[in-house]
Amino acid sequence: MNCPECRTELKLEKFNGIEVKKCPQCSGLWLELPEIDQLEDTVYPYDDDTKGTRIFNTFKSDLSCPECQGAMQKFNYRFYDLVINFCPKDGYWLEKGEVERVLQLMKEEVKEMVDDAKLEERWKGALNNLMTPSFMSRLKELFHR
Ligand SMILES: [Zn+2]
Ligand SMILES: [Zn+2]
Repeated sequence: MNCPECRTELKLEKFNGIEVKKCPQCSGLWLELPEIDQLEDTVYPYDDDTKGTRIFNTFKSDLSCPECQGAMQKFNYRFYDLVINFCPKDGYWLEKGEVERVLQLMKEEVKEMVDDAKLEERWKGALNNLMTPSFMSRLKELFHR
């Protein structure tokens, strides 16, 4: 299989424990469809169904898929300004540095989710403090005046 950009033959390589195909010339990475999930999972500890939509806003790419040679498409990764080439049938082509950005953005998502969880905890704590028996009886008193 050859690099869709510089036509160099892709080499099998391990990246974060995932077998990917890498271009030794331009450092692009070819990830098969399920492999991008595996990649995200290396920094994403939650259920896959909480990940949300990965592909936004697809448009035409000039590159051909290294697997089926069909025209690839581009998309905005999770609403960010990161544009990635992909073949809907075969996989994702990450140019040099894009794999690091995917991981970095995924970590941001995790951070936001942790913040949400913390916020919820704090709210629950606050509510529990409010809903004490003495508070409830005071509340009743207020309304029965
Ligand atoms: Zn290349
Ligand atoms: Zn393809």
